[in-house]
Amino acid sequence: MSGPWIALVVCAAVAGASLSRDEKPPSAPVAKTTFVLPCEGYMRALERGGNFGLFVTGEKSPFKNSYHLAEDVWLKGGTPVHAIGDGIVRYSDFSPTWTDKAGVVHWNLGNVIVIEHALKPPIDDLDAVCSFYVHLAADRRVKTGDRVERGQIIGRIGADKSAENGRYPAHLHFGIHRGPYFQISPAFERDVRRAAASKDGLRAGPDVLRGELKFRLNGESSVLVTSVESGTSILLSLLVGSTAPENAPADIMNWCQGYGPQDMLAEWLEPSAFIAAHAAPVSKSR
Ligand SMILES: [Zn+2]
Repeated sequence: MSGPWIALVVCAAVAGASLSRDEKPPSAPVAKTTFVLPCEGYMRALERGGNFGLFVTGEKSPFKNSYHLAEDVWLKGGTPVHAIGDGIVRYSDFSPTWTDKAGVVHWNLGNVIVIEHALKPPIDDLDAVCSFYVHLAADRRVKTGDRVERGQIIGRIGADKSAENGRYPAHLHFGIHRGPYFQISPAFERDVRRAAASKDGLRAGPDVLRGELKFRLNGESSVLVTSVESGTSILLSLLVGSTAPENAPADIMNWCQGYGPQDMLAEWLEPSAFIAAHAAPVSKSR
């Protein structure tokens, strides 16, 4: 760990040698958004690479036939969890258990924190990413709306099979989502377009939308979907990502869920690879 830090000090010393104390370099580099891993020992704790993108086939798994959208970090309950970068807390709460339209119960994921990070300059055309910290302990240290700094402790990994972590074996389920927290996600749009193209159409209460659709963000958490043909509009909640608004859980489960269809995998980044590619220089401040 000392290599990069030593290199940084040497560079600073060389740069400083030709400048007097008050002078600044002629073109100071733009501060670039950089990241750190959320836990000490993270890489060693990734069993089978953290299972990012793994297709679940287990007969008994409630996530059968879906893809794992995050990395599992097998560290013990109580391990401190750090914000991976400067950002704004978008969610900090105990996630609810909810039942979907088909009557399927989606079990809670324990305590969850989501942080949105602005990217300066943009990375791969993205001007923001969101980090998701799932199965945390109840003593979260940040609340929705807080500004956090890279490396700041935001909570701890929840205790093994406890109510606070959603009754899972102790680990951190950690994901990085492309784009801002409030957005019309590609998977959401695909889902709604598919429904409108189906035999039954897209149903919301008494309204049925068919054929070509237009999407417009309505506030932060809903989207106005309009049929090009009939002009009829319906309001759907983005926080559900569902075509079943009558069963909307008042929560973010679509965003922090650990599993999804194959086309949703493209909306997530492989956390350890992304952080390694945009790593903060090792400093003494952590
Ligand atoms: Zn997981």
